Amino acid sequence: MDYTKILNKISEELSNFSNSGKIASYIPELSKVDPSKYGVHLYCTLGSHHAYGDTKERFSIQSISKVFSLTLVMKLLGDALWERMDVEPSGNAYNSLFQLERENGIPRNPFINSGALVLADILVSEYEKPKDEILKFVRNISEVTSIDFDEKVAHSEKQHGYRNAALANLMKSFGNIKNDISTVLDVYFYQCSLAMSCEELAKAFMVYANQGKLLKTGEEIVNPIKVQRINALMQTCGFYDEAGEFAFRVGLPGKSGVGGGIVAIHPEKYSAAVWSPKLNERGNSLLGMETLERLTTKTGLSIF
Ligand code: GLN
Repeated sequence: MDYTKILNKISEELSNFSNSGKIASYIPELSKVDPSKYGVHLYCTLGSHHAYGDTKERFSIQSISKVFSLTLVMKLLGDALWERMDVEPSGNAYNSLFQLERENGIPRNPFINSGALVLADILVSEYEKPKDEILKFVRNISEVTSIDFDEKVAHSEKQHGYRNAALANLMKSFGNIKNDISTVLDVYFYQCSLAMSCEELAKAFMVYANQGKLLKTGEEIVNPIKVQRINALMQTCGFYDEAGEFAFRVGLPGKSGVGGGIVAIHPEKYSAAVWSPKLNERGNSLLGMETLERLTTKTGLSIF
């Protein structure tokens, strides 16, 4: 499979694409990004990698980080985690409040904001320095020690994080947040501010395409059964109220973020990261989805 040729072809086709998406502006720092940025990077389990565009430039990975915090928590907790959240698609926006109230403070899944806040709460309970543990984990699986949080983005989100504060408070009222709310929000905002490039994200997500093992050394980072579950959750819940559409059009487990990044994996075959900051109405990268749809169409390789 000549992935480089396929990525070039897709990018050529998309160069005239009229992109009606909009950059996320509710985190003011994110609205400063150049909307024309575009990159796609694909890593194969056979070791080759293929790139087009701005694949070395770092951007705010935002909700993609929820996959990393879920992995850390699943390594720590086992099935006790599922007493505090469910594994069902929410069918609602990532920052929606009303379903959480009706369901007594139990988030539908770990990839909506409420679920990720519970994950952050668990990390605060389990680790003395949760932010350091998140960094250590991401640096390890991507093999890039310079990956870091973006302080400006974290502060910007903290100053405008009213809905996340509301979600955390609502869950605290139901007893599903154990620690101090501002400590939990701080961990969550920092993890969302992680800055990574498409190349680094594609590399990091190889763990999920490669049964939980690092490609280079074969070291097991997470047990293969847990990886299957994480991938199942990416498939069913990775795109909030657009998870069905992503499965329908792209057909891969994946995760998006409001920074305009999407990472998708094909188990045993590849991981692919795309970045284009303009988002559709559901908060997913418009060109990112278009790119991945064309990738699975042209390669004929979706998981279905
Ligand atoms: N940090 C963002 C928020 O909490 C992440 C949302 C996202 O990427 N979908 O609102």
